[in-house]
Amino acid sequence: MSLYGGIDLGGTKIQAIVLEREGQEVLGKARRPTPSDGGPRAVVSALAEALREAADEAEVAPERLEGVGVGSPGEVDSGSGTVSKAGNLPGWAGEFPLAAALSEQVGASVIVGNDVDVATWAEFELGAGRQARSLLGVFWGTGVGGGLVLDGEPWHGRGGAGEIGHMVVRRKGARCPCGRRGCLEAYAGRKAMEAKASREVDRGCNSVLFEIMRERGRDTLGSGVWARALHHEDELAQRLIARAVKALGAGIASAINLLDVELVVLGGGLGTRFGEGMARRVAHAMQGHLFNDQRPPELKVAELGDLGGAIGATLLCDGATARRR
Ligand SMILES: [Zn+2]
Repeated sequence: MSLYGGIDLGGTKIQAIVLEREGQEVLGKARRPTPSDGGPRAVVSALAEALREAADEAEVAPERLEGVGVGSPGEVDSGSGTVSKAGNLPGWAGEFPLAAALSEQVGASVIVGNDVDVATWAEFELGAGRQARSLLGVFWGTGVGGGLVLDGEPWHGRGGAGEIGHMVVRRKGARCPCGRRGCLEAYAGRKAMEAKASREVDRGCNSVLFEIMRERGRDTLGSGVWARALHHEDELAQRLIARAVKALGAGIASAINLLDVELVVLGGGLGTRFGEGMARRVAHAMQGHLFNDQRPPELKVAELGDLGGAIGATLLCDGATARRR
């Protein structure tokens, strides 16, 4: 039995699993909030704790794992195991040797990959993209991330490919969390949507969004809060989601006009939460922007769900997503 560790390091939560490779069975899992202060050191401790808890559940000592893969935001150098520009992680300035630091704490070898590349590859290998040769993964969550598989190979460009969240959908448009204007993420990223909702409510707009957030004991508008507000037919939530869908349609269609991949996989916190119905809305929003409008790509919801990032991270141990780095 070969057991692997996989960790999805997100801006708000850390998900760790222990996976039995032959049967693709998740034997242990654990979730932790991402520390909001303490920088990379605190993050590494939380990663180690989550992995130990998952390993406990799987009844294996962490040092007995064949390897541990970590999907991390930011710019990842898989060779050296360093992570930089992880803007969604608080206090993470400059370059940090994540693989070495975590390996020291858990006693197993650690490989790090970019979170979105990892999740895209997981969908290609094991999820919604199993039948595809080429696909675009769109991860609609805190930000909007993108990953590419072209003709059976992951495509990283010079290391920075797939940033669909920063495709310009409107010149001189809304300010993006990246500091630029008019990016897709400025309209569809959860962080940008929350900032916009907050401004609208301050201006006197009626909405149950922040009430639902407080009722649920949250301090951000997570995907569950948006879903609940839509269920209550909250006008502001409906308007901001419609605005996000329009932007996603324009951005994804533009990427398709360039790449003509056969499949788009829609994942991420919001993408997964809203499911097929929302995927159809996004496909509809794309239609008017597709140059080859007679032959749209297929649009599917990511299949690996919440654990997709962590499952994908275990694949890093095979070197799959690290190819051509
Ligand atoms: Zn941007």
